[in-house]
This record gives sequence, structure tokens and C-alpha cells, in this order.
Amino acid sequence: MTLPDRAAIEAMDAQDPLRHLRDAFILSPDEVYLDGNSLGVPTRAAQEELLRAARDEWGGELIRSWNSAGWFDLPIELGDRIGGLIGAAPGQVVVADTTSVNIYKALHAAMGLRPGRKTVVAESGSFPTDLYIAEGVVSTLPGARLQLEGVDGATIEDMLDADVAAVLVNHVNYKTGELRDMAALTARIHAAGAVAVWDLCHSAGALPVELDAAGADFAVGCTYKYLNGGPGSPAFVYAAHRHQGQARQPLSGWWGHARPFAFETGYEGDPGIRRFQCGTQPILSMRALKGALSIWDGVDMAVLRAKSLALTGLFIRLVEARCAGLGLELESPRDDAQRGSQVAFRHDHAWPVMQALIARGVIGDFRAPSTLRFGFAPLYLRHVDVLRAAETLEEVLKGESWTDPRFAARAAVT
Ligand SMILES: *Cc1c(COP(=O)(O)O)cnc(C)c1O
Repeated sequence: MTLPDRAAIEAMDAQDPLRHLRDAFILSPDEVYLDGNSLGVPTRAAQEELLRAARDEWGGELIRSWNSAGWFDLPIELGDRIGGLIGAAPGQVVVADTTSVNIYKALHAAMGLRPGRKTVVAESGSFPTDLYIAEGVVSTLPGARLQLEGVDGATIEDMLDADVAAVLVNHVNYKTGELRDMAALTARIHAAGAVAVWDLCHSAGALPVELDAAGADFAVGCTYKYLNGGPGSPAFVYAAHRHQGQARQPLSGWWGHARPFAFETGYEGDPGIRRFQCGTQPILSMRALKGALSIWDGVDMAVLRAKSLALTGLFIRLVEARCAGLGLELESPRDDAQRGSQVAFRHDHAWPVMQALIARGVIGDFRAPSTLRFGFAPLYLRHVDVLRAAETLEEVLKGESWTDPRFAARAAVT
């Protein structure tokens, strides 16, 4: 297959059905931002909502805003809105807390649904917080243990014995971008009598997700990546309707109570998804998220997916053609059906190479020990951005500009 030239790539942008959405974002004209899978770009709508909430609500109506500005119901309202992007019918998603905290709640609740079983299965290649939290959950349940795919067994499917209560699994791997078949794996987990907890951090807002159709039990995800909610914006948690009556989450705070303002002495969980809240939620962050989510109205997830695959596929082809023999090795699946919205390449000097790219305005990130990671957020990226990123990577590798000592020092956040 011949590689498209600049004119052909510009033509792809001219025909892009999502191209109008770029104007909703505040982007630096000099940079190519390929880190929307770590921190999404601000929308004008998010910043306006944030300002309005701070000025007119907090600064105006003050305490009355819990009712008059809808603050109290915001976690449910935004949950339903996100539900629309991840295939969840209303009443099953709530925005609250962080992904880490929500993993704790969901995994603990999942274990509670299978009281006779003691094993949690997760992936050794998971994003580490998922594993750290799974360790924490297991430590609170007598006899429980954590088994890891890649350490205790070759695949999750091989590990599904009669002791497995819950499987915590990433829809898209944070490093390689590998995409799991949610419906097929959920069916296998159910056939083994276990409960499926899906982490959607790298798929929510990046590709179509069908939680209800897949029969998922629980799911969690963050909103500051492809959903562009802002640094530290609150996460979400999904609990399927069929579990909401029995599922007990352990962080039984007053916002999850059936009657929080009755101020009763004992805890009685709300019968619905509100039970998955804990305490008072970060309203300003929620208001920014509300603005960020407003731009999804009318976005067809199939169109989004097609563009995402076009961007990542183009990047792989351009980089492999331009940078052959320069020490890069593709770590992401080549097959479209198995790839999320990001591309990872291994390189022996990944850290300084990424710093040299960033210095030239191509912003990706580094994941230890040796991965160059590039996220492709389809709402605001263009095909010409992909071309510039590939050209810049070629320039950095061929010119060896990454060997400059200023690119050697590691920062705290990578
Ligand atoms: C980004 C990410 C998280 C982040 O968790 P926080 O609690 O928001 O810090 C968790 N899991 C996965 C898979 C992620 O990609």
C-alpha cells in the first residue's frame, strides 16, 4: 500500500465529519497534542461552566445552589450523560470520587455478590492503581487472594475456576492500547460464575462501549482523559440495574444513604446507583465536566471510532516507513479490531526521545521502562497532526537530538 502524501492527508481532513468539533477546544496552534489519553484538552464550554458556577452559583446563590443550581443531583445527571457514551441505560452510572476509589467500591461490591468464592483475577499488565486497590480489597476479606494474568496464569480465560469471585479487567490497556472484546470476555466470566468489573479509563470517549449489551456487572472510568473534564475531574462508576439492590459498596458515606437529609443514626443504602456515592462531591470540577460533556451531543460513536482508527493506523504506517531501522518497535496491535485510540512504540531511549519531541511541540508521554505513548483523541486531532508527529519523530531520531543532556533529567510526573 502506498503512503499518502501531504495533499492526500489534507484531503482526509477536508472530508472528516468531526472536523467542526476542533473549534470547541482550546488548542495551542503551535503544538500537536497526543496526550489526550492522559489529560484531555479544555473545551470553551468547560471553562465557561466553571466560571459561571464559581461566579453566579458559589458566588451568588451560595448554599441555595445545592437545590437551585442542581448541584445535589449533578453526579446522577452527569452519570446518565456518560452512560449515553458507554452503552448504559439511565440510572446505572454515577459520577463520583476517583477511579481508584471507585475500583475499591465496585470490586468490593462484586466480591460481596459471590460470598463463597475467594479469588480476584486481574492483569499483571494493568494500570498499577487497579492492582494496588485490588490488593487493598483482598486485604479486607479473610481468605481472599489476588491472582494475576501473566503471573499466575497465561490468560484470564485460563484462570476462571470455581473460586473466582470477580475479574477486574481493562477494556483498553493503558500502555499498549490493546482492546479486549468486552462481550466475549464477560460471557466467559459469567459462564465461570464470576462477576466482571471493567475499567474504561482508556475507552470511555475513545471508542464505542456497550456495557448493557455486553452484560457487564460493574465498570469504572475517569473523565479527565478522553472526556476532557479537567485535571482531577471526578470519575464514574457503573453498576448494572440487576445488582443495585444487593450490591453493597464499603464506603458507606452519607451521600449513598437512602435518606441523607434525615440524618439517621444507622446506614441504609439508597436502592439505586446513588448508593455508589460516598460524601460531598467536587461541584466545581463537576461543572467543568458538565461543560466538557456538552460537546458530545450528536457525536456518532461509530464515526468517532472510524476516525480514531484512521489516525492511529496512519501514524503507524508513517512512522514505520519514515523511521525504519531507527530502533522503534511497535507495541500496539496492528489489527484495527484489537487497537484502542493510542499507539505505543518501544525505544531504548524512550525518555529523552519523548522530551526531544515535546521540545519540538509534539506532546506525547513516556511510560516506564521504555515506551513512547501517543494518544489520538478523535474530537480535536487532524490527520495533518499525525503527519507532523511522524515527521518530528523521524527528525529527532535521525538527527539524534535526543542525546542533548537537557533531555536526560527525569521529572516527577511522566
Ligand atoms: C488513568 C487511570 C487510572 C487513574 O486512576 P485515578 O484514581 O484517577 O488516579 C486508573 N486506572 C486506569 C486503567 C487508568 O488508565
